[in-house]
Amino acid sequence: MTSPAPAVAAHDLTKRYPGGVTALDGLSLTVAAGTVVGLLGPNGAGKSTTVKILTTLARPDAGTAMVAGRDVLRHPDRVRRAIGVVAQKSGADPVATGRENLLLQGRLYGLRGAALAARTAELLARFDLTQAAGRPVRTYSGGMQRRLDVALGLMHRPQVLFLDEPTTGLDPQARTAMWEEIGRLAGEEGLTILLTTHYLEEADRLAERIAIVDRGRVVAEGTPADLKGELRGDAVHVELAQAPDPVTAGLLRAALGEFAGVRDTVVDGRRVSARADDGPATVPHVLAALERQGAAVASVTVARPSLDDVYLRYAGRRFHEADTAPAPLPAAAAGGAR
Ligand code: ADP
Repeated sequence: MTSPAPAVAAHDLTKRYPGGVTALDGLSLTVAAGTVVGLLGPNGAGKSTTVKILTTLARPDAGTAMVAGRDVLRHPDRVRRAIGVVAQKSGADPVATGRENLLLQGRLYGLRGAALAARTAELLARFDLTQAAGRPVRTYSGGMQRRLDVALGLMHRPQVLFLDEPTTGLDPQARTAMWEEIGRLAGEEGLTILLTTHYLEEADRLAERIAIVDRGRVVAEGTPADLKGELRGDAVHVELAQAPDPVTAGLLRAALGEFAGVRDTVVDGRRVSARADDGPATVPHVLAALERQGAAVASVTVARPSLDDVYLRYAGRRFHEADTAPAPLPAAAAGGAR
């Protein structure tokens, strides 16, 4: 059953690390009970710091956070009993077997005897590990290790599960299997899941809502469809045979700007990009206008807005570009970046 109170309610979290790095700069986040929410953002955006605070591993300098109805600062022990954490780095003992890992985890949470045995067997079956239960974890494939990690996080039946990049390093098949498993956990068992991810596709597939984190704040929040819908219309990309000179580029921009429903025209080298309310219907007019200006067209594509376009809009750069060039701002500049 979902309860009306949010599973996570964080307000204005601020965290500054020694050396002057502002990791969180007033981050607020609400996660409704029984939903899957994806925290998306480039390296250094503040995702891990947020998760550390919500899981009681770090304290904010300012701000408040309630998880499963408990205050992370006042009752960290109660929060810990209500949450499961699956860290990026496996917490399983590689020398012990899968079953031994689960038994130990259960004992740490006070399970004993028949209840412990039953929960262990249930989780092994649930995560398709019964056959491998007696083998040392170091012999497991990446996908099996990840499934065991999730099983360990669920041992004490938490209300909120934190998944830190659950499919990083998995091959595509294991990744798809893990996505299905996470989807089932949320759907059938009503668990609340907060996942951090580097993969736009993962967030798009799994998360009912997405919070885009950039430079220590949530810069956009909503369902993937809402976020994409806000961009209104399709992306039209034209590749010209050769880059126009600046005067011609200006003429091209002006020519496209005359069409109703076409906006945000950018001419960048040989690439002309614009947004159009109805991309397919607009293409013939755009091509005709370009040719009237003497610009030969090499190729044209029309695409529905993607999460990457959403990311570009809110973070001011492409997701993968942001990811490869983490650029945390010094404390003083972080607030006024956009
Ligand atoms: P993400 O998980 O989105 O990659 P983090 O929360 O790990 O981001 O980091 C946010 C910022 O805080 C980064 O600039 C990072 O370098 C910095 N940071 C994180 N942990 C520490 C730490 N223990 N000491 C100093 N700086 C840190």
